[in-house]
Amino acid sequence: MEHLFFQLNKLKDVLKNKFIFLFLDYDGTLTPIVQNPDKAVISRKTKEVIRSLSKIPHCRMAIISGRALKDIKNKIGLEGIIYAGNHGLEIEGPKIRFKAHVSIRYRATLRKIKSILKKKLSKIKGVIIEDKGLTLSVHYRLVDIKDVQPVKTIFHEAVAHYIISNKIKIRPGKKVLEIRPPLEWDKGKIVLWLLAGLKFVLGKEPCLPIYIGDDMTDEDAFRALKTMSLTVFVGGSKSSHARYYLKNTQEVTEFLGQILKIKTGERICRN
Ligand SMILES: [Mg+2]
Repeated sequence: MEHLFFQLNKLKDVLKNKFIFLFLDYDGTLTPIVQNPDKAVISRKTKEVIRSLSKIPHCRMAIISGRALKDIKNKIGLEGIIYAGNHGLEIEGPKIRFKAHVSIRYRATLRKIKSILKKKLSKIKGVIIEDKGLTLSVHYRLVDIKDVQPVKTIFHEAVAHYIISNKIKIRPGKKVLEIRPPLEWDKGKIVLWLLAGLKFVLGKEPCLPIYIGDDMTDEDAFRALKTMSLTVFVGGSKSSHARYYLKNTQEVTEFLGQILKIKTGERICRN
């Protein structure tokens, strides 16, 4: 893996000349990971760069998050952007609206598991059970280290039966365990689906997909995009399917600022 900034000069022409489809994760990518997920607020600087990028021609942007759609829309609060919540189970944006269909049985299962977990985890301090509509998350970032294994054990005992009978799927993230519908739908598939839609509009105009993310769920997108795009892992050099890395969220904002400069430079030249 290479640090993205070492290659930025080489990439300038591509960034300038191609239509860019920018896919951004939220937590750990646009905002640093914080103890309480509610407190992950986007900085003014990052928000301004995103706002400017959303307005320039030859650029489209999608925020792809594990948060509920409503939550991620509120956190960013900008128009003209595609928002994919619940890892793409619900998507909304200009001329796009999608919500995965889940069965009544799945919803009932989720309710049942939620009440079991609420009861069994209530004695462990720091556990946050988040109902995200289509999915359910158990956050254990605030849990004392000695209680982490018990949380995981209780969780797995509560869900095992439903996994075996293919009623739910489990997805681990950074200090979070998530229950989701048993669908083959991940960040990789969403990105390819959104790209297919854009290519239909662009025709022959070349497009460069850029995906920036920091979590295990982003690896699906890195794998799906690998050969034809710029994939960026946030958090330093480590084993990831991304081609490049950035060290932290400040470097992500810096990179977004660079794209903006390169792109608006293009517009000035044309005038
Ligand atoms: Mg993330």
